[in-house]
Amino acid sequence: KKRIAVLTSGGDSPGMSAAVRAVVRQTLASGCTAFAVYEGYQGLVDGGDMIKEMQWEDVRGWISEGGTLIGTARCKAFMERPGRLTAANNMIEKGIDALVICGGDGSLTGADKFRSEWPSLVEELVSSGKRKAHEVEAYRHLNIVGLVGSIDNDLSSTDATIGCYSSLQRICQSIDYIDATALSHQRAFVIEVMGRHCGWLALMAGVTCGADFIFIPENPPSEQWEEEMCTIIKKHRAMGKRKTIVVVAEGAHDRSLKPISPLMVKDLLSDKVGLDTRVTTLGHVQRGGPPCAYDRMLATLQGVEAVNAVLEATPETPSPVICMVENKIVRKDLMQAIKLTKQVAEHIEKKDFDSAMKGRDAE
Ligand code: ADP
Repeated sequence: KKRIAVLTSGGDSPGMSAAVRAVVRQTLASGCTAFAVYEGYQGLVDGGDMIKEMQWEDVRGWISEGGTLIGTARCKAFMERPGRLTAANNMIEKGIDALVICGGDGSLTGADKFRSEWPSLVEELVSSGKRKAHEVEAYRHLNIVGLVGSIDNDLSSTDATIGCYSSLQRICQSIDYIDATALSHQRAFVIEVMGRHCGWLALMAGVTCGADFIFIPENPPSEQWEEEMCTIIKKHRAMGKRKTIVVVAEGAHDRSLKPISPLMVKDLLSDKVGLDTRVTTLGHVQRGGPPCAYDRMLATLQGVEAVNAVLEATPETPSPVICMVENKIVRKDLMQAIKLTKQVAEHIEKKDFDSAMKGRDAE
């Protein structure tokens, strides 16, 4: 019987707790033993009480909780081999032979590295005398399964990441609130939303809130964007619109990769269009609060599938990541998905914006 641990790592997102609940309960329902590792990879490196056996009741109510109740962290020690060696030792100590990781592309890259290194880590534990050969006999191979938790919806090969629709909903509500005051005073608002490399939140928020102009990293505006934006906004005002909303992704830039900041946009709207303009940075409210119904479902279905993937894995199967493609839960090759994700950032760096726009959907 497998002993399966789950951890959340990297930036938190709504639905991570629901994913942990699903992994724990499907593990128990399959007759296996479930563990939660607290504070991401730091918990694996620290061991002891940070790795806790979980029972059915331990995750009661977690489906509707925001953030991650087992904590998350960025862990420097796990970036280096000695940290991962300690982590391996702690896992063997608890008898854990499979790991489900819910996090972003960084966390999942770390997971795959851990798996590929695992046999040599076990070897080193024996040769250095930390473990006896017979103790590690059952731990020659480590199963890793990835779940994508991210508000940015920034991973290739999946239509949605756990948390992205909750975040979008929160942004939408916030813009609705801002709309009311903008309308009353006929003001313009420049709204900064999260997304350093991925404009999904900004694009979707712009569409769902009827924004006048949107800036995203993958598809920068033309060289004459300042004039173009002002003309469009003047036109909207001439048509009788009493408010102006411009959405700027954190990572927005022009075609030469010079950052476009909300303040720059504000100054243009004030000076060139003559609008009373305010900047609102939505910040961490975008991450907080309970997951929406879709994220609860996504986290639950994917958590169940992650455990099934662990139970069906062989030493030869590449590490899978659980995805949602055309409304179906599917397993994909984890490292392939990460490679495609990284390509998008590379296209942007090379100013190849056509490929960047296609990138995340590429197979
Ligand atoms: P995200 O998972 O949200 O992309 P990070 O990139 O910050 O977040 O990664 C979270 C953690 O995952 C890091 O602090 C580190 O512990 C681990 N990690 C990330 N990249 C690697 C890597 N290449 N090798 C080993 N561990 C990694």
